[in-house]
Amino acid sequence: MQAYIDEAEKALLHTYNRYQVVFDKGEGVYLYDMDGKRYLDFVSGIAVFALGYQNKEYNDALKTQIDKIIHTSNYYYNLPAIEAAKKLKEISGMDRVFFTNSGAEAIEGAIKTARKYAYLKDGATDHEIIAMNHSFHGRTMGALSVTGNPHYREAFEPMIGHIKFADLNDFDSVASQVTDKTCAILFETVQGEGGIYPATEEFMRSVRALCDERDILMILDEIQCGMGRTGSMYAWQKFGVKPDVMTTAKALGCGVPVGAFLMTEKVGAHSLVAGDHGTTYGGNPLACAAICKVIELFEKEDVLSNVNKTGAYLASRLDELAAEFACIRQRRGVGLLQGLVFDRPVGDIIKRAMDKGLVLINAGTDIIRFVPPLIIKEEHVDEMTAILRTCIRETEGEQQ
Ligand SMILES: *Cc1c(COP(=O)(O)O)cnc(C)c1O
Repeated sequence: MQAYIDEAEKALLHTYNRYQVVFDKGEGVYLYDMDGKRYLDFVSGIAVFALGYQNKEYNDALKTQIDKIIHTSNYYYNLPAIEAAKKLKEISGMDRVFFTNSGAEAIEGAIKTARKYAYLKDGATDHEIIAMNHSFHGRTMGALSVTGNPHYREAFEPMIGHIKFADLNDFDSVASQVTDKTCAILFETVQGEGGIYPATEEFMRSVRALCDERDILMILDEIQCGMGRTGSMYAWQKFGVKPDVMTTAKALGCGVPVGAFLMTEKVGAHSLVAGDHGTTYGGNPLACAAICKVIELFEKEDVLSNVNKTGAYLASRLDELAAEFACIRQRRGVGLLQGLVFDRPVGDIIKRAMDKGLVLINAGTDIIRFVPPLIIKEEHVDEMTAILRTCIRETEGEQQ
């Protein structure tokens, strides 16, 4: 394995501090490295592989599609895209779909939609977007421009401009920055990367009312918190408010790179038209066959019930750990998107967990993020907490 890692370090650009492991295959909620060592996976490729590895129906659907056609062009129709758009409308309650290749591209599309919507009203080209501190929306220039982490942006300035930052769940910080130029208010329903901060119902409702009053688009980024992770198909669906535009990706294709931005009929009718936006791959038959099967399997395997049940169990077991260890400040999150906030960097704990066959990931330096496949069971939660407890104890021992 080490030889391959050395090869990788010679060829790949060093944009990640990678863990010293080469994963070779997956099965259910377990990963295997090249030496055959087994790992319990509480990351699922960062909230992607919701259905677990080697779901037979999912794999078969992709193989069947590969043998028919993998790619055409968006200048033609294809059946998987038609079916995927219909299913996505059903699960989201939105009206119009544009398929992308990634989450960041879905954000780009949402930004362009908001700017065009505002442009059509007054012909101006200086509209503003309010985004949130601690947000994460992706690494392309537009997505980076609305990402509330100055550290990610600095070397790449200038950003796209006319972006303001407010605080999630602090409605006044949003309202006080709204002007006649504001075209959109954008946030993650549950902030992922930035530290697992869920939006409150009050904040959601207040922003919705403000957007209605001023004809501003409410854009929700559901790339990480969507697709069932919080116990509803999309996290905003719990709140009795609906966005004007939303983004989805990560678990949408369960491993096949695909995303989408969706909008209401009203926004669709007053924003992007032919010639305004496009993509070569977005919504190709292979990607859309994946979406169709994913949505079908979510229903068939009753994934949401499992998230609600196992998510509550995970939260209670993490609460036990938080009570047990002084170094854990807080547990927060919804469903199977949980975080444990430590009073110190968590890198050492995560490395130890890897050694013991448990894959975990951080969110920021001090938070361990739990984003397992959505099919995990209580026994897996128990297996995870047992290993994690040992790792925390070991690091505590070293502190003394
Ligand atoms: C991962 C993520 C993105 C970016 O998606 P990519 O597919 O990596 O471009 C955007 N927003 C949120 C909330 C994410 O978690």
